[in-house]
Amino acid sequence: MSVETTSTIVEPIVKAIDCKHFIDGQFVDSVDGKTFNNVNPVTEEVYGTVAEGSAADIDLAVQAAKRALQGPWGKMSTQERSNIIRKIGDILLERQEEIAQLESLDTGKHLKFSRHVDAPRAPKNFHFFADYMISVGTEAYQDETNGALNYGYRRPIGVVGLIQPWNLPLFLLTWKLAPALAAGNTVVIKPSELTPMTATVLMEIIKEAGVPDGVVNMVHGFGPGAGSAINKHPDIAGIGFIGQVSTGARIMQEAAPTLKKLSFELGGKNPNIIFADVDIDEVVAGTIKSSFTNQGEVCVSGTRIYVERPIFDEFVEKFAAKTRELKVGNPFDMANDQGALVAKVHYDKVMSYLKIAEEEGGTFVTGGGRPEGLDKGYYVQPTIITGLGDDSRLVREEIFGPVVVVLPFDTEEEVIAAANDTRMGLSNTIWTNDIRRAHRVAQAVESGLSYINCWFLRDLRTPFGGTKDSGLGRVGGVHSWEFYTELTNICVKL
Ligand code: NAD
Repeated sequence: MSVETTSTIVEPIVKAIDCKHFIDGQFVDSVDGKTFNNVNPVTEEVYGTVAEGSAADIDLAVQAAKRALQGPWGKMSTQERSNIIRKIGDILLERQEEIAQLESLDTGKHLKFSRHVDAPRAPKNFHFFADYMISVGTEAYQDETNGALNYGYRRPIGVVGLIQPWNLPLFLLTWKLAPALAAGNTVVIKPSELTPMTATVLMEIIKEAGVPDGVVNMVHGFGPGAGSAINKHPDIAGIGFIGQVSTGARIMQEAAPTLKKLSFELGGKNPNIIFADVDIDEVVAGTIKSSFTNQGEVCVSGTRIYVERPIFDEFVEKFAAKTRELKVGNPFDMANDQGALVAKVHYDKVMSYLKIAEEEGGTFVTGGGRPEGLDKGYYVQPTIITGLGDDSRLVREEIFGPVVVVLPFDTEEEVIAAANDTRMGLSNTIWTNDIRRAHRVAQAVESGLSYINCWFLRDLRTPFGGTKDSGLGRVGGVHSWEFYTELTNICVKL
């Protein structure tokens, strides 16, 4: 008699790929032949090689992108370009499962998340901007005093550099690439050195969709090499960057002599403010998401959780109980909820914060280290810490892992002051059933994004970005359009 077992493990349909640069429509090696290793975050073994770009490779990519500006891309009608951009989205949709698996393989994130967020969001970005570009108008003013008509004429800004992070690799790359292409620019992409795979597959798709050679170029490599060469290249007109605050400062410094346009989406230390009038179970469910989604590797994660004192104990108890239910392990096992962190360097960083919390006398309500039984892989337990002061580094610095701090507060004024006591200002979440207070607090907290009774809902037409050190400019709908187009006012005497 045979015993039937139902495995919860998804058998991958993809394998790790070696990644080359993509310049002028061809996959190529580095000029100097250099490569580096790609390491599997689950097995900690090398599973591929990646071409390591330098200034010479970036220059080849920029020259191809410059030529392509003068080629068919620059002469196409808006409708023709929109059709090609839509086609990229269509192919990505057809290859969704493959993309989701490759993203989980490269980042260590759970397949549930890459299926639900990374893979569907990439085609959506192309479809959204394919529609947007054919429906957007321009401003016009009739000057009756002088008998003139003024109207805005938009042209591409030229060759754009797109420098990308590892946490949502394809989702965030396409978020920049789609509007840049829609506006008629040509691009040089540098994916994160930690997650080069889905960007490489995207280059195949771009070619298949009919994007002319040279319009989209990609050079792999590290920040100080390929990244820095983008910052300094005189023929790159603008940089769309997503990453850490400190890297943004570096890019700004290196780009200053060539006065590039800059669009920055940077890090956050986002407050999650919970007032006592809420339904605690609903807020616990929302806070589990805002704390541990994607292993906490989300820029808008709510990592400083302020809870009004009358419900502090009950909230912590219920939040901890739900957190203990989260299963960490193999990202391809559907019985798990959380995968591995992206790389050793990041794992060590997150672990170092756990050590600091211990030294500062914090209480680990859940987690605090590696899950038991997982000897390999960059896994960290979902961790809730209480008992830390406002000056703790865990309350002030972005950890970017599954680690949150919960702090009590007594008054609205006190929590607003605490929320604003930071140089970062990406997002906040406010949980309350008092409608006036919700709006009052949302307007008082200094962030680019405020979620009331929800978290991370995204409408691509709305402005997205950070205040203070968390970013420069906004993206989404007209805001992306503003960045990726150059505006000329044409004044006609009637
Ligand atoms: P990172 O800044 O370390 O790296 C991002 C990219 O910049 C990589 O491609 C890297 O190689 C490159 N780079 C590094 N040094 C460079 C230099 N001197 N010149 C040019 N390029 C350079 O960021 P990361 O660790 O990959 O990503 C995580 C960070 O991104 C977190 O801070 C997170 O909050 C932030 N993020 C922000 C948003 C947002 O929308 N605001 C979204 C996702 C991630």
